[in-house]
Amino acid sequence: MKRIWLFLVFALASCAPAVTPVAAETPPLPTSTPPATLAFPSVTPPPVTPTALLPSPTATLIQCNPLVAEFCVTEGHFLFQNPILPPGNPFVEAAYRYGSTQNGLREPHHGVEFVNATGTPVHAAADGWVVFAGPDEEAVYSPWKNFYGNIVVIRHSDGFFTLYAHLSVVNVQAGRQVAAGEKIGEVGLTGSADGSHLHFEVRRGSVEDYFSTLNPELWLMPPAGEGALAISVVDESGKPRRAEITIRSDDEAYFIKTYEEKFSTMEENAGLALRANRYRIAFVYGGKIYERWAEVQSGKLTQVVIIVK
Ligand SMILES: [Zn+2]
Repeated sequence: MKRIWLFLVFALASCAPAVTPVAAETPPLPTSTPPATLAFPSVTPPPVTPTALLPSPTATLIQCNPLVAEFCVTEGHFLFQNPILPPGNPFVEAAYRYGSTQNGLREPHHGVEFVNATGTPVHAAADGWVVFAGPDEEAVYSPWKNFYGNIVVIRHSDGFFTLYAHLSVVNVQAGRQVAAGEKIGEVGLTGSADGSHLHFEVRRGSVEDYFSTLNPELWLMPPAGEGALAISVVDESGKPRRAEITIRSDDEAYFIKTYEEKFSTMEENAGLALRANRYRIAFVYGGKIYERWAEVQSGKLTQVVIIVK
């Protein structure tokens, strides 16, 4: 299915320099959102000037457009709290992030892993209702039977769902209401698991659609001192493109690949949670190096769009 790429523009986002030219006769700054079907401009945007935000009072409400800004820092959409609480390991396994194949070794990943010992408590990521709890003896949430083992699926408001797989113990039943943070089960290795861990998914829309997943790292509230980074690598027509990306600060480095194409969303095709800092995002595409500097702030979501040729 061909996806229409719509980049959401977040109101009141703090952002990198805007791109409105400064001139005495400059018309009011545009405040409308882009059209739903976004055609990438064939012309070079006007030059950025540091005073671009100053001349007009309407500039205080200017929206950051990641298509033209270096990056946009937004409030994000961190709807969920971490399903694993300390002393459990609340960090996502870096080798097998959402949309990854772990260098071709595994199926593209529909969720993230929290590697923890069997028996580690698992908590509801938000208030909701349990829609399924028990072994996946029918292939409902994946194309395979007994794939997730014991799972709990919770329906939240606004069409969101979370899924918790490979559990050793299930503490809730279908139809029950749960509160955010409530214990719903324990980590295990039931189903198709290569060791004890929690496989965690966020889905939106049709919960039984295996491809309705979203990158949990962009929807889970980051720990203190961390934020999240959503990257889109697209060509000039807006089609997502594959790249191996290095993300470096002065003392840290992250290596991620853009998602398999089916996983690309309207907002990004790569993303992760990481420490608040300034990062250099770089990759090679078509023999050319692309690089971008972007800031990640604690508790915020930074959006970066890089258009390749
Ligand atoms: Zn998994």
